[in-house]
Amino acid sequence: MKQLYLLLFVFSALLSPCTAPAENIKTPKKMEQQKPSNPYYSRTDTAKLNLPDAVWKKVLSPEVYAVARKKETESAFSGRFWDYTGKGTYYCAACGNALFRSDAKFASTCGWPSFFEEVRKGSVMYLPDRSYGMVRTEALCGRCGAHLGHLFDDGPPPTGKRFCMNSIVLDFVPDRQEAKKAQ
Ligand code: FE
Repeated sequence: MKQLYLLLFVFSALLSPCTAPAENIKTPKKMEQQKPSNPYYSRTDTAKLNLPDAVWKKVLSPEVYAVARKKETESAFSGRFWDYTGKGTYYCAACGNALFRSDAKFASTCGWPSFFEEVRKGSVMYLPDRSYGMVRTEALCGRCGAHLGHLFDDGPPPTGKRFCMNSIVLDFVPDRQEAKKAQ
């Protein structure tokens, strides 16, 4: 019997390093990356979202909703990110889709956060926009269709593109926070 206890003790001691990280299972990464007020927000789920406007109105803040779904534009130099230089990833504030890396952000004088390329092909989609008597290319979230801003051809190398975005529809996650979560 004594041997059995000894065996159990050794066995549990051997298991302990493996069981410690299991505490994380109670709070899956996917849950951590969601917003309690918006069940459709996920920085890990890439499945396309096609939701009625009434649902977006319910789950988004009035400010995000106005830009993302009603295509409003925030005033120049008013947003959080137009001159922000932190290292990290910008996600869609409506659905959590990864949109841009800070490496692709450049100092633009336009007053809106500007990027020269999206994080991956398909993360942003495009539509012709002929509103306000102009011919522009609208940039929308590739996952949920949220209006993000416009795409112009006057950006810097290597792409020559300028993704002119509204800060309010961007969620920024610093690299150090991502690294911490992965541990
Ligand atoms: Fe989105």
